Amino acid sequence: MLMEDIWETLRHPPATPLTPIPDPICADLGVRLWVKRDDLLQMGNDEGFLGNKWRKLQYNLLAAREAGEQVLLTFGGAYSNHLAAVAAAGKLFDFRTVGIVRGHPPREGNVTLRYAAACGMDLRYVDRATYRRKNEIVFLEELRAQYGSCYVIPEGGSNALALEGCRALGEELAGQCPERPLYVATACGTGGTLAGVATGLPPGALALGFPVLKGGFMTEAVAGFIAQAPAPVEAGWRMINDYHFGGFAKFNPELIRFINEFKRQYEIRLDPVYTGKMIWGVLDLIRRGYFPEGSNIVAIHTGGLQGIRGFNERFGSLIL
Ligand SMILES: *Cc1c(COP(=O)(O)O)cnc(C)c1O
Repeated sequence: MLMEDIWETLRHPPATPLTPIPDPICADLGVRLWVKRDDLLQMGNDEGFLGNKWRKLQYNLLAAREAGEQVLLTFGGAYSNHLAAVAAAGKLFDFRTVGIVRGHPPREGNVTLRYAAACGMDLRYVDRATYRRKNEIVFLEELRAQYGSCYVIPEGGSNALALEGCRALGEELAGQCPERPLYVATACGTGGTLAGVATGLPPGALALGFPVLKGGFMTEAVAGFIAQAPAPVEAGWRMINDYHFGGFAKFNPELIRFINEFKRQYEIRLDPVYTGKMIWGVLDLIRRGYFPEGSNIVAIHTGGLQGIRGFNERFGSLIL
């Protein structure tokens, strides 16, 4: 693709499909389920830049270009999908990238960090105390002194422009699924995606967030993002705290079996950290009668596919 075409696609991405999931349980209980295929929102078949990270970076990349910045600087843990996405986007859109990584470099490295480095990201490891300063202005000034002028994206990418991108996603899927009542499910890490999507949904729709971290603090985080939204939020939103499987990146054999079976049945790959848990949760809620008859349920595939390789590297090729 020509460089100008790549930027044009970023400005006006094609709508991603809604794939129906004809699980018999849906027919039995009179509800319909779709997956919103943001996993297909890729450029050049790259597994790093897709899903909600695509939506969250979209307007940030445009703003960085507009401002004439040549370096993107961001923060993340060693397995962060966000770091991988910024690295991949830097390569695609011709930015230098700097990743401030929490903790020591893993002895054998890992797939995510090797991938980020291969995309050209300059990785800098900092101890946890330093990492905690990631939102401090003084720290950002120190980093700028070192790396020059740069466009800073917060950990997980959840800033105002990221929420804009996710709002567009909410509007897009609501337009594709005009029937009501409408429920929209998404996995939550920082809560930015859920907040953004909720701002794009029509009145009466309900956005459901599935936190992948334990602790129940996500409601506050999402409320904080929504309070900053430029327009009042008409849809409802709610957290479903029962499907984190023990915490971030925790899993059990049933979850792995489910992910592999889902791929066999529907040819949709789910990742074990975010989308696998969320879709498991949605199907479990359907089975328990959470959704009234006639409900239309859209589960957002937020991507995370690059995480599968790292997971398999750590735990031994569990995911097919
Ligand atoms: C980062 C990520 C999330 C979490 O998004 P937030 O906006 O931080 O809540 C969800 N799903 C996938 C696949 C992700 O990579």
